[in-house]
Parts: sequence; C-alpha cells; structure tokens
Amino acid sequence: MAGVQKACRTCKAFFMTRSTRSARWENQCFECHQKHKKTKQMVTFQEREQNIVQNLENRIVKTEDWMNNLPSIIGAEVSNVMSSIIDDELITTITEKNDEKIALALEGLVTQMKQFEDKIQKQVSMLNTRIVKIMKEMEE
Ligand SMILES: [Zn+2]
Repeated sequence: MAGVQKACRTCKAFFMTRSTRSARWENQCFECHQKHKKTKQMVTFQEREQNIVQNLENRIVKTEDWMNNLPSIIGAEVSNVMSSIIDDELITTITEKNDEKIALALEGLVTQMKQFEDKIQKQVSMLNTRIVKIMKEMEE
C-alpha cells in the first residue's frame, strides 16, 4: 500500500503517508509525529505532576489553617465545657465545701468562746470567794 507524498506541517519536508487513505489526516512526517506525541505525553505528565503538587499545596494550606484555628477551637470547646461545669456542679460543690468550712470554723470559735467563758467564770467565782474571805477577815 503506497502512500501519498505530502509536505510535513511542522518541518515542511516531504514524506510518504502510510496509505492513500491516511493521507487525509496525516499532516506530519514520522519524526515530527513522534516528537509531537512525546511532547503531548510530557505535557500531560507535567500537568498531572502540577495537579499533584497543587493538591498537596492546597492540603497543606488547609492543614495550616486548621492548625492555626486549633487553639481557638479548643479554647472555645474548653470554655464551653468549663462554663457548663461551673454553671452546674462546680459552684454547688464550692458552695457546699465553703459552707462546711465555715460551719467547722464557727463550731471551733463557739467552743473556744465557751472555754474562755468557763475560764473567766471560774476566775470570777474564785475572786468572789477570795473577796468574801477578805471581807470576813476584816469584820473580825
Ligand atoms: Zn516533519
């Protein structure tokens, strides 16, 4: 099957087409066609590579954003949890503990005051006895 002689679209050299039929669409000599194919593959490969790199970059940016927002996200979550705890149990617990401490302190204070009172009363009665004794001695 003899082809037709045509001028290559790229290098302008004459070449034989593969057949009379293929002469309709064959516009390049074999070498130029191979080069073009390789270039196309290279472009596709580079595009794919670029896409991968772009994807990675996007993911890194997203991860960085996520990391940057992390403290505020955690902070908000912690303050949420804290406020709910403080609202309910913690204040009750603190109040109860404080009430217990105050009650204990008051009890101790009352006991000390009673002991002090008893002591004073004893001293007062001792003083009374002494005064009575002295008065009796003076009368005699
Ligand atoms: Zn050519």
